[in-house]
Amino acid sequence: MGIVAERVRPTVARVDLGVLKSNYRAIREHLKRERPTGTPGVIAVVKANAYGHGAAQVGRALEDAGADLLACADIEEGAALRAAGVRADILIFGALSVSDLDGLFDCRLTPTISSPGAARAVQAAAARHKQRVRYHLKIDTGMNRLGFRADNLRRTLPELLRSENLDLEAVFTHFATADDPASSLFDEQRLRFDKVLADLHALGARPRYRHAANSAAVVRDPRVWFDRVRPGLLLYGIVPPPLQSAIALAPVMTLASRVTAVKGMRAGEVTGYGARFTAKKPTTIAIVPAGYADGLDLRLAGRGAVLIRGRRAPIIGSVCMDMIMIDVTGLDASPGDEVVFIGRQGGDTIDAREMAETIGSIPWEIVCRVGTRIERVYA
Ligand SMILES: *Cc1c(COP(=O)(O)O)cnc(C)c1O
Repeated sequence: MGIVAERVRPTVARVDLGVLKSNYRAIREHLKRERPTGTPGVIAVVKANAYGHGAAQVGRALEDAGADLLACADIEEGAALRAAGVRADILIFGALSVSDLDGLFDCRLTPTISSPGAARAVQAAAARHKQRVRYHLKIDTGMNRLGFRADNLRRTLPELLRSENLDLEAVFTHFATADDPASSLFDEQRLRFDKVLADLHALGARPRYRHAANSAAVVRDPRVWFDRVRPGLLLYGIVPPPLQSAIALAPVMTLASRVTAVKGMRAGEVTGYGARFTAKKPTTIAIVPAGYADGLDLRLAGRGAVLIRGRRAPIIGSVCMDMIMIDVTGLDASPGDEVVFIGRQGGDTIDAREMAETIGSIPWEIVCRVGTRIERVYA
């Protein structure tokens, strides 16, 4: 009896690591071109399984391309990167209070300290391990999520700065509205951060570097590039909407499947749960083996399209758990034909921005939600 190994389901996410590396280099070149002296470095953001692309492969590829600092959400993600063989420094963005802090030492991770409580916990853990820990200090300049309040540093920082086992490597903040050109909060946060930097200096803190810019801020405003920038989405070849960028990026992920069946519907017949699509005329539909369990949003039915035979075919009826129906009338489709959800086929492209817009979501969510049962195939 043979073992059937390495079967790949017909629905796959193809991840082009060559494109990823070239995006990384394109961002570096852009920074260099715009700021030839004092060019900021890049913190490559690979949280959430590298935005659904696969943290191990993406982390190693970025390291290959020269990345010396990766960032992820929590200690567990950092440990997974280490287990994948990543040797570069790894910054943990998220809260540490409910995690096992030993992971910081076992896996040589750089914590973000974003509250006095976290500072005490990391200091105590570092003392226990008899190590000094380099950390990044996070300042809340108006997003009101994690971070020391920008207006209270004189009270909260001295204790942290005195911590014997803690070594301030960098200071950073995070923007709430970098992708919203109409919001004034971005500039308010920028100005508050400038003031924070002066306050830190007055308190005797000497961070070796400063960072603030996510992808949108990289595209939008060189004034917030400081010493390093923190692109996530851009690395994966997606520009945060509604912004546009001249950086030479290409999407890293293609999401595709194959037609499993083609069938004819007579006028007046329906397809799918809820019978939401009625054929107005004789209609040919194709069944594609990918559904909401693969991360396809329910709202794509009746709104979205796929690429097949170099044309657009509307997604009709309902998105089921494991399959969808598409209208292929006149396309001469047959079982086995490639179906592209995200990517290029023929002369047409559907990208994560378009899919997000179709369903009222954001491209970050589109790539992150590509289901765990979808195989990532690397090239
Ligand atoms: C996720 C994240 C980023 C990257 O955001 P993009 O919009 O994907 O570039 C940068 N900084 C922090 C703190 C983050 O959490």
